[in-house]
Amino acid sequence: MDVRNQLDLKALIRNIPDYPKPGIMFRDITTLIADPKGLRATIDELIWPFLKGNIDYVAGIEARGFILGGAVAHELGLGFVPIRKKGKLPWKTIGKEYSLEYGVDTIEIHADAIGKGDRILLIDDLIATGGTADAAIELVRESGGDLIAAAFVVDLPDLGGSKRLRDKGVSVHTLLEFEGD
Ligand code: AMP
Repeated sequence: MDVRNQLDLKALIRNIPDYPKPGIMFRDITTLIADPKGLRATIDELIWPFLKGNIDYVAGIEARGFILGGAVAHELGLGFVPIRKKGKLPWKTIGKEYSLEYGVDTIEIHADAIGKGDRILLIDDLIATGGTADAAIELVRESGGDLIAAAFVVDLPDLGGSKRLRDKGVSVHTLLEFEGD
């Protein structure tokens, strides 16, 4: 239960066993963001450490990171940079292959989306092994940007992703933890 808004955000997340493959407990945020108070409280909780400023862009990872990241960027009065799955962005891109909890994938960013020294806040719905976020951080750094913080609704700490990011010098902000994977 969140003491500030009296809302149990964790209870609004749907837990789906064996999706997308056996052994994975999928933490589905669609039920959280479909709830009007749940969505409002989630965005409020995501943004508060960053209200003091010092960020130039919010970058979100396809696809749930777009929903949350767009709202976060709007609330912070910042622009939004999409990090997309391979082949989706129309202009020149740079890409990075990565492994995630259940497979291998590639993400891309427009080569000119981030300028040298731009300070970036990364947003996604969930961090598990940290492979996706790590690849996004590398893309931002290759673009010349400074990835100063990453924020997620859900942390699966047993999979080590949030520690992996902190070990890379990134400040990590998460709202809810679930044990196991
Ligand atoms: P990882 O790269 O292992 O940190 O995985 C994080 C990415 O995969 C995020 O974009 C999540 O949306 C998705 N993901 C991984 N594991 C889960 C899970 N158990 N439930 C929901 N989404 C997941």
